[in-house]
Amino acid sequence: MAVKENLTLMAVHAHPDDEAIGTGGILVKYAAEGVRTILVTCTRGELGEIQDPTYVPPEPGLSITQIRERELARAVDILKIGTYHNLGYKDSGMAGTQGNEDPLAFCRADHAQAVGKLVQLIRRERPQVIVTYDENGIYGHPDHIKAHQICSAAFLAAGDAAYEPASGLAPWQAAKLYYIAIPGPRMKKIREERQEKNPEDNAPSSIVATPEDQITTRIDVTGVLDRKFDAIFAHRSQFAADHWFRRLTPEQRIAIFGAEYFVCAQGCAPRTGEKESDLFSGWR
Ligand SMILES: [Zn+2]
Repeated sequence: MAVKENLTLMAVHAHPDDEAIGTGGILVKYAAEGVRTILVTCTRGELGEIQDPTYVPPEPGLSITQIRERELARAVDILKIGTYHNLGYKDSGMAGTQGNEDPLAFCRADHAQAVGKLVQLIRRERPQVIVTYDENGIYGHPDHIKAHQICSAAFLAAGDAAYEPASGLAPWQAAKLYYIAIPGPRMKKIREERQEKNPEDNAPSSIVATPEDQITTRIDVTGVLDRKFDAIFAHRSQFAADHWFRRLTPEQRIAIFGAEYFVCAQGCAPRTGEKESDLFSGWR
């Protein structure tokens, strides 16, 4: 597919592995079409746990942060991400855990300062399209919610000539902002897996499916699905051998992950009842 000119896609995530699970398909698909792809990760996933008891680190003595940095570098490579930036905040851990109280935790970071950091990256990289989490942060993770908040604010502030975080960079208004959506069939599978693991668990899931009529955009990623899963499993420490992602048949992979879904939040095309099939529609 021919790309008109300097199209750039920026994905803003909280932790290593979110880029692959949430947006691995669009990142690798658009990169293959010649779009520049930029990944911004707000933390280094310092509070992630080794999810696989049989996992052996590539070198003895590596910290979880070092392990996850290596895994992310591998995923960035697999997804052909053009440029990777880290905002330098600390993982807050899951909602309600001790990590939330750490003064350095991303969820406690000064909002204006964090927005300023992201504005600088937006003005430098000049993306037309920016993608991040919805207001629930997919499943209520405080760092995902924080990323949603700073990204939504930075999308507007970057284009505002009156906003000047002392960068000297010219304002840049990205054309569109999208939030990652969870389609019904994927939610159903997540629920089934949870039930199977723990049949007693009847607590409401923190993950909520996006109402079908709110989903504006469906991007077919079947052609790059193997690469998306390669990138997910590059985060080796985070996916145990029996994780349900690893047990999906090729047919299930396509049924559940063959498309990535989004809600357009800013700069949206008029709704027609049909879902958009291109994040850059109107730009080609
Ligand atoms: Zn995350």
